[in-house]
Amino acid sequence: MEIEKLIRKNILKLKPYTSARESHLSGILMDANENSLGSVVNYDNVELNRYPDPNQNKLREKLSEVISIPKENLFFGVGSDEVIDLFVKIFCNPREDEVIVCEPTYGMYRVCCDINDVEVKNVPLDKNYDVDVEAIKNEVSSKTKLIFLCSPNNPSGNLLSKEKIITLAKSLNVMIVVDEAYIDFADKIGLSKEAIEIPNIAVTRTFSKAWGMAGVRCGYSIASKEITSYLFKVKSPYNINKLTSDFIIQALSKKDAYENYVSKIISERERVIKELKNISIIKNVLPSDSNFISFQVNEPKNVFAYLESKGIIIRDRSNQFNFSGYLRVSIGKPEENNKFLEELNNFSQNKK
Ligand SMILES: *Cc1c(COP(=O)(O)O)cnc(C)c1O
Repeated sequence: MEIEKLIRKNILKLKPYTSARESHLSGILMDANENSLGSVVNYDNVELNRYPDPNQNKLREKLSEVISIPKENLFFGVGSDEVIDLFVKIFCNPREDEVIVCEPTYGMYRVCCDINDVEVKNVPLDKNYDVDVEAIKNEVSSKTKLIFLCSPNNPSGNLLSKEKIITLAKSLNVMIVVDEAYIDFADKIGLSKEAIEIPNIAVTRTFSKAWGMAGVRCGYSIASKEITSYLFKVKSPYNINKLTSDFIIQALSKKDAYENYVSKIISERERVIKELKNISIIKNVLPSDSNFISFQVNEPKNVFAYLESKGIIIRDRSNQFNFSGYLRVSIGKPEENNKFLEELNNFSQNKK
């Protein structure tokens, strides 16, 4: 397949802005109208008065080492939300092209398309919240440029079938972006290898969840060299600042701490799932490959409001497509999970 046929013409012929730090990162730097005397704020040895490396070299090298994916296939964004937006910008002509999303799923895909004035088609996930390959094939038209899949899916929590995603990619001339924000919590590996080998699969990941770096705003994509080069062309010149880069490089040297968090969160997740199943008001608890659990009740608004009144804030997802009655709770600290379970039990007892 020729990915070029999917890319917007204006992007194909785009001559990107060449920033000063593109060519030189050191020397007597008198090219970018920075303040050569220094910065009003000092932070470690980070030269805050200089623009950051637009090619994200150090960051990409470090990540490449840690996840064993070539640097050429890696691109960093201000959260994976930025990467999602760039995919829409690269592939979809406003008011002309279409994007497929499979609901219930992460709301940002739709919002991002709305902002870019790109039409969204919903092809619902099947009854097990997995991809419905035939339904997607039926919905794809010559206008369809992009399909967003989320695996593990937010809010249902499950991994999508890898085989189905690969089948889709191989049978369609459409770019498939698989959002793996929660892949760290799944016991299967994601589609990073496929994102390199299959031209129309790309993966996005984030430091906001398992790595505990949501405040830093950093995510990345794994994609073919070609697509990666378009992401670099389209991004704003210095999207990843020096502090983000510094913090993420530090994070990537702490793989043990990351693994420790992941295993604690998974064991708490399994414990909370078990306990939720014993609470009488709960009609269903979905299995989870993520760091959250979705569960179904008869009165989601009341349960939500009751927990809120006790200072426990969860997410009401009951208005989402095919997700009636569901609330979503993130795995917290053990004592937070206990308090949550205790209050749910209290609500349940009062119902009797
Ligand atoms: C939390 C989340 C993200 C993370 O977005 P960032 O911009 O990287 O913080 C991405 N996708 C899904 C499905 C999420 O739930």
